[in-house]
Amino acid sequence: MLRIGQGFDLHKLVEGRKLILGGVCIPHSLGLLGHSDADVLIHSIIDAILGALALGDIGQVFPDTDNRFKDVSSCYLLRYIKDNFLTTSGYSILNIDSTIIIETPKLMKYIQLMRKNIADDLCIPIDSISIKAKTSEKIGIVGRGEAVISQAVVLIHK
Ligand code: MG
Repeated sequence: MLRIGQGFDLHKLVEGRKLILGGVCIPHSLGLLGHSDADVLIHSIIDAILGALALGDIGQVFPDTDNRFKDVSSCYLLRYIKDNFLTTSGYSILNIDSTIIIETPKLMKYIQLMRKNIADDLCIPIDSISIKAKTSEKIGIVGRGEAVISQAVVLIHK
């Protein structure tokens, strides 16, 4: 049986925070604001997995009112979702495709490490994970450098 899920997330770029995408800390003057480490890519992947399982969304599993998840690594949240939602439902991931929309910095040199981090957390081959990066052509909240968006789709099977 195959199921598909899609995820979307947006976080605001602010001063005084780290920019963490796919578990990689990327040198930049701004970082993403959020209750956890605000890893927008991993959050979109988590929502895609939960969506494929029809088991709600990331905010229901990890409420931002719960101090256990304050500044927590989103890689930990991803592993938690794999162990407690995906595996227990009897499903495994076939592939993930994702797009990060960010005006700056360029992500090309970090993409391989992001793929490896996510592959390791989900215990799947690196070639099952695609991460693409685009700009917003200097238009809108992403284009002005005010936010970063990520979208993901995941195919699961059992
Ligand atoms: Mg988020």
